Amino acid sequence: MANANVDVLKRIPVREQEPLVRAKNFEEVCLGYNAEEAMAEASRCLQCKKPKCVGGCPVSIDIPGFISKVAEGDFEAAAGVIAQSSALPAVCGRVCPQETQCEGVCIRGKKGDPIAIGKLERFTADWAREHNVVPKAPEKTNGIKVAVIGAGPAGLTCAGDLAKLGYEVTIFEALHEAGGVLTYGIPEFRLPKSTVVATEVENVRKLGVKIETNVVIGKSITIDELMDEENFKAVFIGSGAGLPKFMGIPGENANGVFSANEFLTRNNLMKAFRDDYDTPIKAGKKVIVVGGGNVAMDAARTALRLGAETHIVYRRSEAELPARAEEVHHAKEEGIIFNLLHNPVEILTDENGQVKGCIVRRMELGEPDESGRRRPVEVPGSDFEIEADMVIMALGTSPNPLISNTTKGLEVNRWRCIVADEENGKTSREGVYAGGDAVTGAATVILAMGAGKAGAKGIHEYLSGKKD
Ligand code: FAD
Ligand code: SF4
Repeated sequence: MANANVDVLKRIPVREQEPLVRAKNFEEVCLGYNAEEAMAEASRCLQCKKPKCVGGCPVSIDIPGFISKVAEGDFEAAAGVIAQSSALPAVCGRVCPQETQCEGVCIRGKKGDPIAIGKLERFTADWAREHNVVPKAPEKTNGIKVAVIGAGPAGLTCAGDLAKLGYEVTIFEALHEAGGVLTYGIPEFRLPKSTVVATEVENVRKLGVKIETNVVIGKSITIDELMDEENFKAVFIGSGAGLPKFMGIPGENANGVFSANEFLTRNNLMKAFRDDYDTPIKAGKKVIVVGGGNVAMDAARTALRLGAETHIVYRRSEAELPARAEEVHHAKEEGIIFNLLHNPVEILTDENGQVKGCIVRRMELGEPDESGRRRPVEVPGSDFEIEADMVIMALGTSPNPLISNTTKGLEVNRWRCIVADEENGKTSREGVYAGGDAVTGAATVILAMGAGKAGAKGIHEYLSGKKD
């Protein structure tokens, strides 16, 4: 299958917007492969008899299967192979941490570059969207109603899988748009909303799933009411982990301190970056983003695009940065300044209570902590000030307790995460299943999707064995 013109050890490079150009716009950074490039990259695949990449994918996509179809130029068949396992391939192809998943275990990667599995998945899904390849709903339903809470990756996946099995599924979503973090968290320049996210949400609808927005479970209606009064026979909770954490340092309540969640939601969902929307955000001139994960990179790169000089302040070193390597690389190329091994100890304000800077302390790395990463240790007497008019806290999130507080018998752990079986999503409450960030705390899109699949399987087993 190898293409004679391709160096099998080297990945076909993917086209991107130039760093200095993209730092000033919200268009997608990565431009993806065209058909010729995708076929050339796919021709590098060894078609291993025992492919490790499939085990590296949390939803077990038949990776060699779809790649062989791409290599042949049969993109519709490739899309069909992916659709058997994933409802959100254009999303995953863009945001999955492939370097530690499927591509991390690719055999080709032992001697050369691993196959660009994510970029090929993205190409295939984009091709399917542009050619109107849509999933088919089952001919008839089984009349059994299942409720799904939250229209993020976990909820959409669970709902799609149950609809394919014939259930009548309704997703209840608190916000006015479906997609969860894909819509309100991850910025447009990494994940376009109106094309990629909206189409994949629409594809779940086309399977027969109803999506009711602006319904907050625990406020508008409770899980008990859904089951006792609305005849839902089972419920899947995929409500995510949207409650931001703060540091508890002096000055954190000042004007100009945001959680990354609020800052990104204002930009993504309320389109604050566009002049024609009347939900503006104050764009700082000098912005400090505290944290080192994907959320911190997204907040920093958004602030940069709004015109700010932007610093990432992170208490460990580059090796411990939890963000995807590609995001760190892009952030550096675009001009984000990294203050690594620094930790904020106080936010400084002016006479109007507005942020004017931040005192940071130097850190060094000590022994590994319980996470296995080397513990940051303060360097005494090393404090200094960084000037800033906005500070964005990107320190992680936890699940909102609204659902657990209003659902009898639903067990949560000390981080307020719902306790659920990893295999099937079963919770302590009969008929109630859960998965995604609501169970694990903030994690990844593909893990949430894997949990949505497990939940659908658990619900199907429960309802198939249940006598009315
Ligand atoms: P969510 O996506 O949070 O969806 C939960 C949904 O439930 C939301 O729409 C919410 O409004 C709704 N909801 C909550 N409470 C209720 C209620 N009471 N009633 C009704 N609806 C409710 N992961 C990656 O893999 N790669 C990345 O590059 C990446 N970047 C990220 C960048 C940012 C800025 C953020 C915030 C996260 C990022 N993640 C990334 C993590 C990833 O997005 C999440 O792990 C994933 O979205 C979790 O999916 P979920 O379905 O469990 O929850
Ligand atoms: Fe790899 Fe993610 Fe695609 Fe699975 S869904 S094959 S992990 S990019």
